[in-house]
Amino acid sequence: MRIANTIAQMKSARAKSPGSVGFVPTMGYLHEGHLSLVRQARAENSLVVVSIFVNPTQFGPSEDFKAYPRDTERDLAMLKKEKTDIVFMPTAEEMYPLHFNSWVVVEKVTDRLEGSFRPGHFKGVATVVAKLFNIVEPTRAYFGQKDAQQVLVIKKMVADLNMNLEVITAPTVRESDGLAMSSRNIYLNPQERRAATVLYKALTLAQTQRKKGESNAETLRQQVTSIIIGEPLAKIEYVSIADTETLEELTAIDRLALASLAVRIGKTRLIDNILLE
Ligand code: AMP
Repeated sequence: MRIANTIAQMKSARAKSPGSVGFVPTMGYLHEGHLSLVRQARAENSLVVVSIFVNPTQFGPSEDFKAYPRDTERDLAMLKKEKTDIVFMPTAEEMYPLHFNSWVVVEKVTDRLEGSFRPGHFKGVATVVAKLFNIVEPTRAYFGQKDAQQVLVIKKMVADLNMNLEVITAPTVRESDGLAMSSRNIYLNPQERRAATVLYKALTLAQTQRKKGESNAETLRQQVTSIIIGEPLAKIEYVSIADTETLEELTAIDRLALASLAVRIGKTRLIDNILLE
C-alpha cells in the first residue's frame, strides 16, 4: 500500500496504472460503512484508491471541522487489510492553496434537506469531489446511500459536467441495533448512543406503514415525527418523504420515495434515510 501526500505523487501513481481504478473518497476515522465501499471497489477494479481528507470547505463556521475525529494510523491499518493500493492524504494547503478561487455549484437538488440546514455544504462537497476526480481519474467512484443527497449531487455533477466515470451507490451499513455507522457516532455518550436508535426505529416504522399500504406522505411524516419527539434527547431538524431524484416533498406516495431525517442527539447531528417502495 502506497501513501500519496501530494497531488503530484497521486497523479504519478495513477499514470502508472493502466487498468480500472476504483476510488473511495472519505474523511477518515473509518468504520465498516467505509470498508464496505473499499471491498466493493476492490472486487470491481484492478487498482483501489482511498482518499482521507477532512475537507474544510464543506463545514460551516459553527460546525465540527476542528473536532472531527481523526486516527490516521488506525485508518491506514484498516485500509492495508482491505488490500488498498493507494491512500491519498493531502493537506488542506495542498488542496486549497492561497488564492484558490474556483468552485463547483450544483443547483436545485442542493436547496433542500441537508442543503437548507447546512448552507454551502454541497458547494464544498462538489468542489472537493471534482478535484479528487481530476487528480485520481477513477473508472468508478463509490459512495454510501447513508448520505443519499450527497450521492444525488455527485451524480448530477458528473452528468452535467460530462465527467468520465461511473458513480456507484452502496447500501448503508448499520450497527446491530440499526444505528447507521458514522464517524460522528463517537461523539455520543452511552445515554445518547441509546437514544440515537430512535432514527432507525422511526424510519423502519415508515417503511412498515408504507408496506401496509399507507400512501399519504404527511401521515408518515407525522408518525416519524411523533416517534422522534418521544425521545427526550432528540431534536428534529427535518423529517422528509420526498421524490428520490428531485427530493421534492411528496403529497401522495405514488412512486419510490426517500424517507430521510436529520436529528440532533445532544450536540451531535445525525442523518439517516430509508427507501419506501
Ligand atoms: P465520510 O467519511 O463520512 O465522508 O464518508 C465517506 C463515504 O462513506 C461516503 O460515501 C459515505 O456515504 C460513506 N458512508 C459513511 N457511512 C456509511 C455507512 N454507514 N454505510 C455506507 N456508507 C457509508
